[in-house]
Amino acid sequence: MFRKILIANRGEIACRIMRTTKRLGVSTVAVYSEADAHALHVEMADEAVLLGSAPAAQSYLAMDKVIAAAVATGAEAIHPGYGFLSENARFAEACGKVGVTFIGPPAAAIHAMGSKSESKLLMERARVPLVPGYHGAEQADSHLIHEAMRIGFPVLIKASAGGGGKGMRIVRAEHELQPAIDGARREAKAAFGDERLLIEKYMERPRHVEVQVFADSYGNAVYIHDRDCSIQRRHQKVIEEAPAPGLSEETRKRMGEAAVAAAKAVGYVGAGTVEFLYADGQFYFIEMNTRLQVEHPVTEMIAGLDLVEWQLRVASGEKLPETQGELQRYGHAMEVRLYAEDPTRGFLPATGRLAHLVWPTAANNLRIDSGVRAGDVISTHYDPMIAKVIAWGEDRTSAVQRLRRALTETEIAGLATNAGFLIDVLGHPNFLKEEIDTGFIERHRAELLPEVGAMPDRALALAAAFLVLADGQRAAEAARHSGDPHSPWGLTNGWRLNGEGGSSILLRDNAGQQRDAHLTFSGALWSIAIDAGAPLRLTAPRIDNGALVAGTDHGRLRVTIVQDGSQVTVIERGRATRVTRVDVLAEAEAATLSHDQLASPMPGTVVRVMVEDGASVTRGQPLMVVEAMKMEHTIAAHADGIVRQVKFRAGDPVAEGVELIAFEAES
Ligand code: ADP
Repeated sequence: MFRKILIANRGEIACRIMRTTKRLGVSTVAVYSEADAHALHVEMADEAVLLGSAPAAQSYLAMDKVIAAAVATGAEAIHPGYGFLSENARFAEACGKVGVTFIGPPAAAIHAMGSKSESKLLMERARVPLVPGYHGAEQADSHLIHEAMRIGFPVLIKASAGGGGKGMRIVRAEHELQPAIDGARREAKAAFGDERLLIEKYMERPRHVEVQVFADSYGNAVYIHDRDCSIQRRHQKVIEEAPAPGLSEETRKRMGEAAVAAAKAVGYVGAGTVEFLYADGQFYFIEMNTRLQVEHPVTEMIAGLDLVEWQLRVASGEKLPETQGELQRYGHAMEVRLYAEDPTRGFLPATGRLAHLVWPTAANNLRIDSGVRAGDVISTHYDPMIAKVIAWGEDRTSAVQRLRRALTETEIAGLATNAGFLIDVLGHPNFLKEEIDTGFIERHRAELLPEVGAMPDRALALAAAFLVLADGQRAAEAARHSGDPHSPWGLTNGWRLNGEGGSSILLRDNAGQQRDAHLTFSGALWSIAIDAGAPLRLTAPRIDNGALVAGTDHGRLRVTIVQDGSQVTVIERGRATRVTRVDVLAEAEAATLSHDQLASPMPGTVVRVMVEDGASVTRGQPLMVVEAMKMEHTIAAHADGIVRQVKFRAGDPVAEGVELIAFEAES
């Protein structure tokens, strides 16, 4: 076993690797960027080396710096985690050249599987079933169009070097082909520096089922069960489980053996995942990931083993700890990826400070893999995942129940997250009935994704009650310090003054709508109405340890409420609702601004401008494309109207919320 390794990664995966190294007595070297100087992974490591500035290219992707750090600290091996340099064959080779072990497969295997196109050629030869498509070298537009027509619509265009759903485009008609090819190329080039594309038949509603494989350098290879990762948004996984539900043992075996054949075909060593699409009892190879996957914990939980420990053992020259026949499977495990993102806005990544972060009580069968603490910042530089929450159960139903419960006990404020969305998916009747496929989220959109602005009045009312109490506390505090504890100025609402009265608070919901909360007090009874709707009744409300506590018609209520300046987050059973308190003076100033603004949804770069000043456009027409986190976001006209002024050109960086185009909607 190694004595010291370097972890060329950050966040939850770096922390997770260190949990294993600590247990095995292996010391660790962390690397970090300037933005991560105070990150958890740096704190957990025995030593840490600064690589460079925040952009990954200057730090976590800077091969030479990472290798120099390993040499300087005397690390015998490098664990690349996932993402960053984990599937970079040149990096694996460069490690070998300086005598540092790369904890992963041989460079040749990474290279062979690195291109979706080339790996398909190999799999074809190894007789692993493929999705019908084109994965050839000829890349002229006319040829790609010809192939797409031959395959027949719908087709899926993918980046050969792809990953993370980047560069992917579904095309349903001939006239959409050219723009899709152009967009996919651009995105592929930006994300991978490689613009080669491949085309596949787009399967409607397949399941994503994958197999965990493991091989050692003595020619042994096993499959460690399967996982279902069908619950996806933007072709990216959000919920994963093991084993894949509803497969016959015979299918599991055939799939497992095909995956082992795929690994053997490229001389694989270490942990890898062979991904398939699965429909009507048939499975089709899509790609192999030559690294540890994000979702590896669900496999660990059902197999009762530690895949990072296996990686370290195999990389240090040991044989696989177990044979195919010795591997066991117990119960069911499920993982959700808790992201900083806004499901109501197309799952747009969110950035900001984690003003409040509380995890559920630790329990057996519950695992939280995270790399952040309260107060940390989720920035645009890296992946916006906050944590993975994983639960185990004797069967699928109990795993789902535990996981859902854990999420309802999780509290996050400061930025938008997908927590409420995940809770809804886990509670959806079709999800519980195992009616899952990659179209699940899209199909159940209406139930899972509330419209922007469909904010429950209840959350607004709770926020208003909290604000009145907090104002009261602050005023009482001020009165105490003024030396006159009985000053009437310490009383901020009529209720305390004479037992009866009222008060109003202006709030803004997540759609930017101003909402009026009117509170009336009668003794200890508060009644809060939003925009003159049916009131919420609270008895003797008070603030206790950051929570609003009160009696209600249905029993006692306790809701965590976090106030961060004018931002108020109401967290009820894991669901956070964010409300802004309206500052009337600042509002008056802002009112002079035009409402016809097309703003950048997030910090990024303009990659394409499709209109000119003065153009008259129709509702839904794409006007500009902004790239952020290597994904493209199209800015479309929200109404028919006229483009008054295009304010940025392709290549310009833009901040969140800046006006991109001055637009005048037709009245
Ligand atoms: P990436 O490497 O970018 O993640 P993959 O090839 O692994 O891309 O595919 C990601 C997801 O996209 C799959 O899990 C599946 O949901 C969807 N997908 C990929 N290929 C197809 C296809 N041919 N038909 C339908 N869906 C597909």
